[in-house]
Amino acid sequence: MRIMISADMEGATGVTYTQDVVPGTEQWQRMRRMFTSDVNACVAGLHDGGATSVFVNEAHSSQRNLLLEDLDTRATMLTGRHKPLSMMQGIDSGVDGVVFLGYHTGAGVDGVLAHTYLENSITGVWLDGVHASEGRLNAAMAAEHGVPVLLVTGDDKACADARDYVPDARVAVVKECVSRYAAICSPPARTAELIRTEAAEGMKHAGRYAGEATPHRVEVEFDATHLAHAAAVVPTVELTGVRRVGFDAPTMTEAMKAFKVVTAIAAGAVEGIYG
Ligand SMILES: [Zn+2]
Repeated sequence: MRIMISADMEGATGVTYTQDVVPGTEQWQRMRRMFTSDVNACVAGLHDGGATSVFVNEAHSSQRNLLLEDLDTRATMLTGRHKPLSMMQGIDSGVDGVVFLGYHTGAGVDGVLAHTYLENSITGVWLDGVHASEGRLNAAMAAEHGVPVLLVTGDDKACADARDYVPDARVAVVKECVSRYAAICSPPARTAELIRTEAAEGMKHAGRYAGEATPHRVEVEFDATHLAHAAAVVPTVELTGVRRVGFDAPTMTEAMKAFKVVTAIAAGAVEGIYG
């Protein structure tokens, strides 16, 4: 049983603020340790539940956040950016389950550091008409490869979101959202116990099934009109509203590749203070 962990940072233990997740800051240096602690608890729990190897894919920002020197020796880690499948790199490598660790809610809804790919500028993403977080998008890609989502960790809002898009998955609430930048946090020793227990439980659902590639429609709304116009330059992407674009893709993997291009082009069009 080979399991993958897609590890994002906004939903990690203790993280509530911009500086907590921006590489290079003093707070980030501190939070990396708690983020790594969450991952190690998950690796331990997955092994308790029968995993034979665990592969961690760093999924936050520069994708150089976890402390390899402190990683559980039973795991390996993909660190660094520029990966075709991004947060889900490795989902097509024959894994028997995936964990979404440190996940958060999507742009436009309540939740600690809520966003979808871009920290701001995007105000909402919809997958086949349903408001979608990164978790929902990534779960659709996992389903395409026949990989069950075993566990989602994050704040209470991210876990409530997960209950909707992957009802069979376990959840581990590591903090209670008070606002986008505030949460009631449990110490890492406590959240580690919880993550470990839930990861072991999650292993009951491990095991690949026959995945199916199906067409999907993605819509993205921005906070400024020119960002939608910039995104609409991408082939297959059409303007569907004043600040909104949409596109169809033959598979979820293709949809995510197109989404990545849309976010990159829009991010490049953001101008200083006015956005
Ligand atoms: Zn994220």
